[in-house]
Amino acid sequence: MRDTVEIVGINIDKVTFEEAEDRLLDFLRQDETKMIFTPNSEFLVDAVKDRDFSEILNDGDLVIPDGIGLVIASKFYGMPLKEKVAGCELMTKLIEIAYSEKKSIYFLGGKEGVAEEASQRLNDKYPGIKIAGFHNGYFDEEEEKNIIDDIIQKRPDIIFVALGAPKQEKWIYNNRHRLGAKIAMGVGGSLDILAGRSKRAPEFYQKTGLEWLYRLLKEPKRFFRMLKLPKFIALAFYDAKTR
Ligand code: UDP
Repeated sequence: MRDTVEIVGINIDKVTFEEAEDRLLDFLRQDETKMIFTPNSEFLVDAVKDRDFSEILNDGDLVIPDGIGLVIASKFYGMPLKEKVAGCELMTKLIEIAYSEKKSIYFLGGKEGVAEEASQRLNDKYPGIKIAGFHNGYFDEEEEKNIIDDIIQKRPDIIFVALGAPKQEKWIYNNRHRLGAKIAMGVGGSLDILAGRSKRAPEFYQKTGLEWLYRLLKEPKRFFRMLKLPKFIALAFYDAKTR
């Protein structure tokens, strides 16, 4: 039985990082493709307005709270989340597991060269790691068919999809039955971090729940996107009090 808290209509797993890790190991032992989603405050503001997106998130097999906003909001509902579980860290953990269990990985997403750079860096760090394939995240319908054929043929155990939200979640949902993978995870900008194209916030910002501030200082053009954080807190507060 999953222990979840419903925040603005989306069920979020109440898991610690270690519990999320156990679920990954479980998923790798099963047959169908399990979907892992990593919502933050921005996702949930969008999901409130986009019914398909909210239904897809609620169909996820593991939906981790990838933002301090969700941890704060869970308290409004009297069902506090145990901790923030960063998608980026869970992705790193899944890569370590893939290496030790000899499972293969496919990267889909990012600008031209990013998925390839991520694969090369992993090969340097984990010699012999099984990278089944990769493709950038900018493709038309015709190319998409070829990408899916490529994935079906290579049969990776794990697919990391970085197309930005909600595109990556919708892509995973629509294709999950034909991919043949054990896990498909939406990873967004984490692929750029893996490729060394962008950096995670220093530990101070992560520990104090200010990772969003670091990202804002680094990329001021995110300002308008980040207005969704206070909006999300207000939405969740209202939702919790009017239930
Ligand atoms: N991206 C992509 N195809 C698209 C849109 C985005 O491959 O059509 C990639 C983009 O290059 C980036 C990743 O998706 O590597 C994450 O995008 P976003 O900024 O939305 O994610 P966040 O930084 O919030 O995780």
